[in-house]
Amino acid sequence: MPEGLLIVISAPSGGGKGTILKELFAQDANLRLSVSATTRQPRPGEENGKQYYFISHEEFQDLIKTGKMLEYTEYCGNFYGTPKAPVEEWTQKGFDVVLEIEVDGGAQIKKLMPDCVSVFILPPSMKVLEKRLRNRGTEDEPTILRRLETARMEIPCAKDYDYIVFNDKLEDAVADLQAILKAEKMKYSRN
Ligand code: 5GP
Repeated sequence: MPEGLLIVISAPSGGGKGTILKELFAQDANLRLSVSATTRQPRPGEENGKQYYFISHEEFQDLIKTGKMLEYTEYCGNFYGTPKAPVEEWTQKGFDVVLEIEVDGGAQIKKLMPDCVSVFILPPSMKVLEKRLRNRGTEDEPTILRRLETARMEIPCAKDYDYIVFNDKLEDAVADLQAILKAEKMKYSRN
């Protein structure tokens, strides 16, 4: 059985990737989402082991030291990283695995595994991004400003990704992602 795809998806915070991925997962039973570990505090409604493994700085450092992280980075004052074991297990079993990570982690994975498929989701404009971040209502003002500043630095990295998907209309963005995955799975080199 061929190995599953490793799919890196990045977007600026508030770029709408959560909504797009929810729709994508609802339509594709062969997809698995990697659950990252983070030192950030859970937001209301977030559960340990579901959106993230919420761990302490000490636990995070320990995972790095023992080689259990595929990649990791510091983002807006918190650490985020991808646990290695589930990704390896799922891809070996033929599942396609999505890593929803920021650009530094995306670059680490592309270097480590050049065969991965990387997709950058772009919001229609900075104005729309700001509106989405504010409407979400989960961050305080300094955090929103910091995330917008980070977004300004991340967007130029879109050119380093294999594909760019514009998130103007949800259905279009989901259809674009599905088309990318379908084409990648049909590549001769994967069979
Ligand atoms: P948030 O705090 O909004 O959940 O995530 C902040 C940023 O961290 C997002 O861009 C998200 O994609 C990214 N992120 C989440 N998990 C990981 C991870 O395991 N590794 C890296 N490099 N970035 C991550």
